[in-house]
Amino acid sequence: MQDIIKNLPKQAKDKHNENKKFFAKLKKKPPKNLDYIMQDLHDEVFSDTDCLTCANCCKTTGPLFIDKDVSRLAKHFKLKPQQFIDQYLRIDEDNDYVLQQVPCVFLGADNYCSIYEVRPKACREFPHTDRKKFQQISNLTLKNVAICPAAFNVVEKMKDRIK
Ligand code: SF4
Ligand code: SF4
Repeated sequence: MQDIIKNLPKQAKDKHNENKKFFAKLKKKPPKNLDYIMQDLHDEVFSDTDCLTCANCCKTTGPLFIDKDVSRLAKHFKLKPQQFIDQYLRIDEDNDYVLQQVPCVFLGADNYCSIYEVRPKACREFPHTDRKKFQQISNLTLKNVAICPAAFNVVEKMKDRIK
């Protein structure tokens, strides 16, 4: 897995123009059953992906935290929301709460998430490949394929499946 992660930015860069064209076409005319196709491809790829040998999302990007995440996590740590924010978060250039640093402070050396049950919504949903109306997040996906081997594989399979 480490070799795959190491090569991923270059592979994603090599595919970038092709992917960009594909998503532009997809946005114009998404297939009627796109949600169904995406669920299928997502399940297929993730049944063959071991996130515990990867954790590249937790190591390199980290999630943004919505208010509900902050309240839930503050409660989990028996802190006030502002105390949780002061201890763990900062505001980024888009005015969102994000981690003060990556790798994520909640990631263990064994790649397990120490707050898995209460982790942020963005962590639960990453890389969003089973989300409805997938064509709407093509810009984000173009970035995620350089971080997430599963997202990369989903997009490669999409290009085969959707002509
Ligand atoms: S979601 Fe993607 S980047 Fe994150 S651990 Fe799984 S395969 Fe790796
Ligand atoms: S909270 Fe957990 S799942 Fe989310 S980035 Fe941190 S370690 Fe990964």
